[in-house]
Amino acid sequence: SMREVRVETVPLQRLAQFLEPDRVTVLESTAAAARTALEGRVVWNVNATASGGGVAEMLTTLLAYSRGAGVDARWLVLDGNPRFFRITKRIHNLLHGSPGDGGPLGQAERDEYEAVLASNLETLNAWVKPGDIVLLHDPQTAALAAGLRTSGAHVVWRCHVGRDVTNQSTDLAWDFLRPYVSDADASIFSRPAYVPEWLEGHRTRIIPPSLDPFSTKNIPLAPADVTATLRRAGLVDLPAGLGSLTFSRRDGSLGSVRSHGNLLVAGEVVPADARVVLQVSRWDRLKDMAGVLTSFATHLATLPDDAHLVLVGPDVLGVSDDPEGAEVLFECVDLWKALAPEVRARVHLVSLPMDDEGENAHLVNALQSYASVVVQKSLVEGFGLTVTEPMWKGRPVVASAVGGIQDQVVDGESGLLLRDPTDLAGFADLIASLLNDDDLARRLGGGAQERVRAEYLGDRHLIQYAELFAELLR
Ligand code: UDP
Repeated sequence: SMREVRVETVPLQRLAQFLEPDRVTVLESTAAAARTALEGRVVWNVNATASGGGVAEMLTTLLAYSRGAGVDARWLVLDGNPRFFRITKRIHNLLHGSPGDGGPLGQAERDEYEAVLASNLETLNAWVKPGDIVLLHDPQTAALAAGLRTSGAHVVWRCHVGRDVTNQSTDLAWDFLRPYVSDADASIFSRPAYVPEWLEGHRTRIIPPSLDPFSTKNIPLAPADVTATLRRAGLVDLPAGLGSLTFSRRDGSLGSVRSHGNLLVAGEVVPADARVVLQVSRWDRLKDMAGVLTSFATHLATLPDDAHLVLVGPDVLGVSDDPEGAEVLFECVDLWKALAPEVRARVHLVSLPMDDEGENAHLVNALQSYASVVVQKSLVEGFGLTVTEPMWKGRPVVASAVGGIQDQVVDGESGLLLRDPTDLAGFADLIASLLNDDDLARRLGGGAQERVRAEYLGDRHLIQYAELFAELLR
């Protein structure tokens, strides 16, 4: 059945050290008002997974700050079966405008989807009290809205996916979701272009995601920690001298990075003197890991000799809500096998353990801190945390000009945008321009960090939530 995810409590003051005094003042007064308005109520968050992916990442940190602000914020994860997750993955792909597995979205799928959520609703109704606020995340949860409202909760549905222009696929997905979404008191999208027109007249909000500078994934790492972590994980071949490596988590406990070479699904250990071009993504076709690999391999001649490509994704066998993942990873392995040996030596496929969130985040942090260029060649992207994270670390990024990435990156100031995400030669050229020009790379890396500080830290996000809740309770 449904399970509750343990959430930390983190004081808002911690975030304040990154903000100008005016921003701190606004954050503190908003928190005080929210504390009063939400007294005696719980703010529930429901989504499909406790780890892996941007939504889980954000819930972890925003809920911790909410609790730190004195709000009783909690997190529940749905209980589904593989059939349910195949259907919701289909909806997810369709919302991105891609036909996905091409399977149907008819009455049988509706029945299955509703049955799974009806049984989740029973559990939820035992927890949720009238007057509570429930934030439902993504298509997996939409059909919970009506039942929760009947029980007296204020229900907000948040859609973390989106596509700039509608097509047949998005229409199909929205036809499926519309009856459920229409039942919510409000809905939230990451960009104005993502709001379906039939929600006109309903309460909608635009709230882009944010990043937590103190999470294990984003906290600054000492260069020695970065290199030791990657060596210890068997990813980068640095001078020997392995000790037992530990790192401290946000809750103060110690984690350790396992010493095993089997994180590498395909490829050799990255040489110590290589410069790394990195993409970190779920193994999802829309992230186009295969396109990154092909662009890099086909246009290797335009890149400096020390450039190596590292593609990093989760250990897909451990992720129950992502049946497509293993397929995509194996496609990339097949492409890698077909490369000429000298090209293959410069391409590395990495699968990260997801069982220990602290360990996973520490490795992602080390990889993003180590990379010379971070790329995100998504074909569609609601909003890419995998772009914001390296930007905060001052890395120069090359990313497709699609979806939320167009808001995240100001082309030529805080990164480079690839106008046509299918342009493999253009993509390699942008990477080469950064690897061949240290001044440009430094300038764009600095611009990237400033952009995140200005637009994508948690205070803005929490204030937008507080404003919406105040309106719902009015
Ligand atoms: N991520 C991770 N390990 C992986 C792949 C991804 O921790 O192997 C994280 C990544 O760092 C980011 C999130 O998952 O925080 C992905 O969020 P994003 O918004 O980029 O894409 P989504 O997966 O939500 O489509």
